[in-house]
Amino acid sequence: MRISAGRLVLGALIGAIGSTSARASECGDLRAPIRPGDVPCLTNELINHHFPELDTAWRQGRIRFREFDSNAYYLKTSFSAGRLSRDPSQREYSIDVNPGIYDVAQTPSGPPSVAAIQGILAHELWHLVDYETSSVIGILRLGTDLLLHPARVERRTDLRAFARGFAESIKAYRVWIYGKLSPRQMRVKRARYFTPEEIDDWCSRHPGCFPPGTSFE
Ligand SMILES: [Zn+2]
Repeated sequence: MRISAGRLVLGALIGAIGSTSARASECGDLRAPIRPGDVPCLTNELINHHFPELDTAWRQGRIRFREFDSNAYYLKTSFSAGRLSRDPSQREYSIDVNPGIYDVAQTPSGPPSVAAIQGILAHELWHLVDYETSSVIGILRLGTDLLLHPARVERRTDLRAFARGFAESIKAYRVWIYGKLSPRQMRVKRARYFTPEEIDDWCSRHPGCFPPGTSFE
């Protein structure tokens, strides 16, 4: 097949955008609703392009996918406590996906966008980076911090994901999930994680972020 110079330039441009922005993805249109199969694709893409710290764990098959049920959480990561080894190459993790995210009949807005799931995955992968790069004592300290000061840990994790280019996609996730929460769940989420308004504020002070008001919704 003959490939025109124009197409090569366009491909290089899309590649360049993909390395710095959350708007281009090998996994499809970021504004499209998430579908089964997208989460492993996005995880692979994020690790390959944005999370080199997890490359070895991913290639060694130490990051697996599981399903769980919840009405307040849709994606989370777990550390396999039985594998709390001093040797990181013995550690195992899971990315736990609530299959409710794929339910096209859910209210009020249907499934989240691919971008929204890309954002929350970037947040969750930072937790795995912490597990993969910490000593056993460090992991125990992280677990204690998460229990005693969840907002401090989760907001710091949000900030690290923002710094890798995922502020707007995390905002898309928060906007989506706020539509599904009870008033009590909403209070917890707003306290524990950056809100869409706080993300806009952060973006207004960081030139690498997309302009405030830009949305994947
Ligand atoms: Zn978190």
